[in-house]
Amino acid sequence: MRIILIGAPGSGKGTQAESIKNRYPIAHISTGDMLRENVRAGTELGKSAKSYMDSGRLVPDDIVIAMMEKRLSEPDCDRGFLLDGFPRTTAQAEALDRLLDKLGIKLDAVVELSADDEVVVRRLMARRVCKNCGEIYNTISRPTARDGVCDKCGGDVVQRDDDREEVIRRRLSVFREQTAPLIGYYRNKGLLVTIDAASSKDAVLKFLEERHL
Ligand code: AMP
Repeated sequence: MRIILIGAPGSGKGTQAESIKNRYPIAHISTGDMLRENVRAGTELGKSAKSYMDSGRLVPDDIVIAMMEKRLSEPDCDRGFLLDGFPRTTAQAEALDRLLDKLGIKLDAVVELSADDEVVVRRLMARRVCKNCGEIYNTISRPTARDGVCDKCGGDVVQRDDDREEVIRRRLSVFREQTAPLIGYYRNKGLLVTIDAASSKDAVLKFLEERHL
């Protein structure tokens, strides 16, 4: 199975991906996670990406496309993959098409998680993440048992630099301007499915099962 999740920041792509990952043995590829990992490890790629990420802008296409060409050629992708946060621009979608053609494979579906801006802003401002294991919390709907301490591993639970309100609003306008056009791009290819981001945390999983994917 090869699918793409598209949705505004905070629409719940990561949460939906988590339930799919637990059910299907496919590679979960999040460009945001890969880029953050490079920033943490201090790689050249991470150094080039950091200022864009901190300010809520997109990392340039050539950097992200090169990173993904390498990742999609790794052996675990033979079992299928779920792309979370890629493509985010038309240039990235076209590069992905070329790469899939070269690899001789096709996408099964592109799932759009549609969400209301104000819901997303509220959700992201309350989001917290463990610096150590990446577990995601929410100060309203899923607080940690001890303030700032991860329930799973005891690591520090913090707010992401790009989850501050002004950065969230920038990320939303970047989404509308640069990523939303992909919805039409994939609709024209007959691959698009839209799911309300407010539905249950395994709504996408249910859809995949119904389609027998
Ligand atoms: P995310 O965790 O998916 O919200 O991504 C966090 C940040 O990483 C984004 O705001 C961008 O700066 C960067 N990023 C992630 N995926 C991409 C992509 N496909 N193209 C460009 N920048 C990206």
